[in-house]
Amino acid sequence: MNTILLGPPGVGKGTAAKRMVSAYEIPQISTGDLLREAVKNQTELGMQAKKYMDAGELVPDALVIGMLKDRVAREDCAKGFILDGFPRTIPQAESLDASGIRIDAVISLVAPEEVIVERLGGRRDCPKCGAIYHVKNSPPKKEGICDQCGTALITRDDQKPEVISNRLKVYRTQTEPLIGYYRKKNLLKEINAVQPIEAVFKDIQRALG
Ligand code: AMP
Repeated sequence: MNTILLGPPGVGKGTAAKRMVSAYEIPQISTGDLLREAVKNQTELGMQAKKYMDAGELVPDALVIGMLKDRVAREDCAKGFILDGFPRTIPQAESLDASGIRIDAVISLVAPEEVIVERLGGRRDCPKCGAIYHVKNSPPKKEGICDQCGTALITRDDQKPEVISNRLKVYRTQTEPLIGYYRKKNLLKEINAVQPIEAVFKDIQRALG
């Protein structure tokens, strides 16, 4: 089952994707994670991508599309995959279509802007194992420390307040048009993201049949 998770930053795509990974046994492919890994490893791609990411801008399509296609071609995607954070622009979606990669469903997670801003501001990440927390909604047992691996949690640079508002603006102008794009193709499943993760996940399961 080849799926796309669509929605603004902070709506809970990463958390929903992790639930889908264990239920459907298909990998989550987060272009944000792949890009952060490239930045960490100081690859050519990472060095080109960093300045866009730090500013909350999108990395140019040409860089992201090649990276995504290489990833989807790997063997672990044979049974399906969950794209988290890709496509982010109409040209990215068109390139996916053109490459013959079939998409079965697009899960669109929906929440009002004020909820998004609140969620993004409180988010904390484990830089080692990738676990995600929220200071209010899902705090770690010990403040500032990852429950799973004991690493000190961080606020990602692109989750700082000045960058958040730019990321939301970029989402509205460049990514939101994808909702119409996939609705026209009859692939869109809209899910209310303002409910506990269990309920969000149930709705996703129901939508996927
Ligand atoms: P994310 O973790 O998905 O919020 O992504 C973090 C950052 O990586 C974004 O703000 C962009 O700068 C970049 N990024 C991730 N996915 C894409 C994409 N599909 N197209 C362009 N830039 C992306």
